[in-house]
Amino acid sequence: MRIYYWNLYKLRRFLLTGSAVALVVALLASVMMRDAITAAAIKPKPHAIYKVKTDEKVAALTFDISWGTKVPGPVMDILKKNNVKSTFFLSGPWVVKFPEYPKRLVSEGHEIASHGHNHIDLDRESREKVKSEISSAHEAIKEVTGVSPNLIRTPNGAWNDMVLSVADELGYSVIQWSADSLDWKNPGVDAIVNRVMDRVQPGAIILMHASDTCLQTPEALPRVIEGLKEKGYTLVTVSELLKHGPGVAE
Ligand SMILES: [Zn+2]
Repeated sequence: MRIYYWNLYKLRRFLLTGSAVALVVALLASVMMRDAITAAAIKPKPHAIYKVKTDEKVAALTFDISWGTKVPGPVMDILKKNNVKSTFFLSGPWVVKFPEYPKRLVSEGHEIASHGHNHIDLDRESREKVKSEISSAHEAIKEVTGVSPNLIRTPNGAWNDMVLSVADELGYSVIQWSADSLDWKNPGVDAIVNRVMDRVQPGAIILMHASDTCLQTPEALPRVIEGLKEKGYTLVTVSELLKHGPGVAE
């Protein structure tokens, strides 16, 4: 009888342990299923990125280029001298017309991104047109530099939900800015420098230009870099910045 009870005890223990394991497995499976279902059901809507959420003193200097050959060279010289890597948003036709500049950007370690094809407000265009604008710039940049960009700053920063969804379909994130230097208005070197210093914050995306219409940028840039470094900021590309935290709208 002793043996019988012993076996019963062991059997009960075995069954209890077995049920416990089964219960845990079932719970885990249900949690995993729920996560998979939730992920499929609410894929986050694409949004434009204005800055990165982080407490670290890190920021991205970014340049748009659509026209000319006078400003890009000096801007690249200054970045090289200061060992700063930036993200350049390039217009398709400029890349095709002056391939030596985008090639130099790649060889000097900068990040190549898209500024669309024609410099037009995409939020006023049809879905098909937006698709062809983004695709044309993509092909041009890829052809000349060998790089397939995945970040786009839409011309004039114009976007709406349709533009965001087309960009997302084509594998792009839309990048805006949190600190506008206003260098495109040629407001004076001091004004450009002060605007950046006033607006920089951890995770900032700083907007500058290296098109020939922005003639004060090369003079302002060394002071911008020096000022940011004095404030303790490390300057990185937008892709690097996005490794420090999520890209957010505000
Ligand atoms: Zn532009």
